[in-house]
Amino acid sequence: MQWLAHGFHGEMQYMATHGTRRARPAELVPGTVSVITARMDYLPRDTSPEWQAVEFDRLARPGEAIVSVYARGRDYHKVLRNRLARLAERIAEEVGPFGHRAFTDSAPVLEAELASRSGQGWRGKHTLVLDRNAGSMFFLGEIYVDMALPPSDPVSAHCGNCSACIDICPTQAIVAPRRLDARRCISYLTIEHSGPIPDELRPLMANRIYGCDDCQLICPWNKFAKKSTLPDFDAREGLTGRTLAELFAWTEEDFLRRTEGSPIRRIGHERWLRNIAVALGNAARAGEGGAHEALATRAAHSSELVREHVAWGLAQQPAG
Ligand code: SF4
Ligand code: SF4
Repeated sequence: MQWLAHGFHGEMQYMATHGTRRARPAELVPGTVSVITARMDYLPRDTSPEWQAVEFDRLARPGEAIVSVYARGRDYHKVLRNRLARLAERIAEEVGPFGHRAFTDSAPVLEAELASRSGQGWRGKHTLVLDRNAGSMFFLGEIYVDMALPPSDPVSAHCGNCSACIDICPTQAIVAPRRLDARRCISYLTIEHSGPIPDELRPLMANRIYGCDDCQLICPWNKFAKKSTLPDFDAREGLTGRTLAELFAWTEEDFLRRTEGSPIRRIGHERWLRNIAVALGNAARAGEGGAHEALATRAAHSSELVREHVAWGLAQQPAG
């Protein structure tokens, strides 16, 4: 409630609208007396042991488009929902029919808090759930159930004196340990936020066009992050190692086809172009050849939002 009162949720009105239902499971699903929490590792199967360095290197190539690791494969909502439904079926085979409802990032559920209270990990200073053996590169899911289960214990926190995630955040969005101002977070700005991106934050986005992983990449516990065993989270073609100019050239039809079944699809082509226009402006400032030419192709786009970000990008000049 304090976090909401600060306005840290930005445009994510649903967080405020649902009030106490977010924190009290039985108000959301009447009859709920226990919550089963689950997590699922998502690093793609071909992830190298040096993956954190591989990802940081992308930031040193201003003409390359960076999509957050979790979003390079299939939409996790579908994958997790299916797996949670199967888990519930298996439980029902053992104990008989029971009332339940599964969630994954899809309803007013305080997922990270439920996960940490049930021992899936502790809340890192970046607010995500961290485990000593799996870092933070996993999705969370929950099954609200109408039967009383013995509670599992929380685990102790192991951030210690580390503040690497707070220090590295490009926009200083982590305003205190475990307190995130979403309005400054690049994940929020590129995915949840619908309007113009605040001018002062645009240069800080660099070449990140969908989400941001920095606070997780720097976290020492992510040395232990696990690869998924499923093909679902393998990076699909076109979403890694591509240039900003290539992705900026996608028509709306290309965008819809290439993001079919991907979480990226929900931001739509307009926000996609908005984000890439900012990244191209940043590439131009970094002296990347061809950035202005790419931007110019969208200078007369039908969307005012896109045109304004393109104009901003075109105004960026190499330093010095
Ligand atoms: S995702 Fe990026 S912008 Fe958001 S808190 Fe982490 S480092 Fe900062
Ligand atoms: S980077 Fe350090 S402070 Fe941040 S979550 Fe990881 S261990 Fe905790």
